[in-house]
Amino acid sequence: MIDFSLTLEQRILQTKARDFAQREIIPIVQIIEEFNNPQIEPWDFCQNVFYKGAELGFTSLLVPKEYGGLGRKCVDLVLILEELGAADTSIACSYFNLTAAMSLFVTRAGTNEQQKRILSHLRAGQPQLYSAAESEPNVATSDLFCPLPDAKIGIKTFAQRDGDAYILNGQKSSLVTNVGIADAYFIIARTDLDKPLRESMSIFYVPADTPGLKFGKRTEMIGWKTSHHAPIHLDNVRVPAENLLGQEGEAAKLLMLLPEVAIGLAASYVGLARAAYEYALDYAKKRVSWGRPIIEHQAVALKLADMMINTQAARLTVWEAANTADTDPQLAAMVKAPAAKTFAVDVAIKNAQTAVEILGGYGVTKESQAGKFLADACIGYSCDFTREVLRLGLVSCL
Ligand SMILES: Cc1cc2nc3c(=O)[nH]c(=O)nc-3n(C[C@H](O)[C@H](O)[C@H](O)COP(=O)(O)OP(=O)(O)OC[C@H]3O[C@@H](n4cnc5c(N)ncnc54)[C@H](O)[C@@H]3O)c2cc1C
Repeated sequence: MIDFSLTLEQRILQTKARDFAQREIIPIVQIIEEFNNPQIEPWDFCQNVFYKGAELGFTSLLVPKEYGGLGRKCVDLVLILEELGAADTSIACSYFNLTAAMSLFVTRAGTNEQQKRILSHLRAGQPQLYSAAESEPNVATSDLFCPLPDAKIGIKTFAQRDGDAYILNGQKSSLVTNVGIADAYFIIARTDLDKPLRESMSIFYVPADTPGLKFGKRTEMIGWKTSHHAPIHLDNVRVPAENLLGQEGEAAKLLMLLPEVAIGLAASYVGLARAAYEYALDYAKKRVSWGRPIIEHQAVALKLADMMINTQAARLTVWEAANTADTDPQLAAMVKAPAAKTFAVDVAIKNAQTAVEILGGYGVTKESQAGKFLADACIGYSCDFTREVLRLGLVSCL
């Protein structure tokens, strides 16, 4: 028997996240969207939101209690992220999901010493914002899914062993999230340029103040106006060997065992799909044509029904993926997480597009939120791998 009902604890968590999103996120998003000025630094507005959410445990939710986390499950995370994503997908994904997932990564991939040291801020009640840098300019990030054993394919940032340290040199792409504002970076570099990418990537924990790390100008995007993305230049960045997570060449394997990143993104996009549906529903009840609210015209009503049905289907796919992450992380990583992320983003894009249609001319004005939904939804297509490579990766596991 399958029970989809939430426990009392989960309903409390969900309500807490919903209240937080209404009270803390929505007013900030309105300010940033209203200014719509590339000179505005979103982090100036969002950092309070991040620290308040971190205090509620949204970034340490999955970390075991002995390291200062809440020791909760991925199913709990997706409940929170749907609520945050309904208010603003980029705040949900960039600040909360990424930091929550990388904190969990330290507990999965780190030694006891690394877990204690890197996560010590949690016990001290001083949340840290994380960034994970893999993609590079002039290299297709999809190369990570390349099955060819050609060592020339893939990222070029190199980590050279030097006594008790590694020296990192290279560049990371202008899309990397939280670059320039994060407290610490998880940087992926090759430790052997003669081996294929998947066998030669290693992952290093690098505090933001490490000499040689240089951050570029913030990248303007069509949506996700509340987040900060920028390039990194690594110029002889000396990283102690004890900051290598896992063994040399293990990054691909370790990251594959972190389905929570994609599942968290998917949950945030269910939030966006729901918000677009509720927004269009509200409009359709108020807008009158031919003497009655447009929801009473079947052409509009059927669109709204599809939006609701698709949102519910995406939510269940995400819940199932989250449940699998808690019980069978490998199956979740290989199949369920990419499926959930692809489907949830598709539904979000479709719902946002339908919201634009239901709002008629107003759908394309800055006055309405439909355009923001659409722009934010489209960003989900390529954020954390494109729908094509995710599906190709998934098929290779079937
Ligand atoms: C909002 C946002 C946040 C991001 N944050 C981060 C971050 O924090 N850290 C980080 O490292 N990166 C980040 N990225 C980069 C992101 O991971 C990549 O943009 C994404 O993986 C796509 O890679 P690419 O842009 O290099 O596209 P490419 O790999 O160049 O692909 C281009 C097109 O070709 C298609 N394609 C490529 N190969 C194949 C194939 N074999 N078969 C079929 N189709 C194929 C793709 O589907 C796509 O349509 C972020 C991107 C965005 C948009």
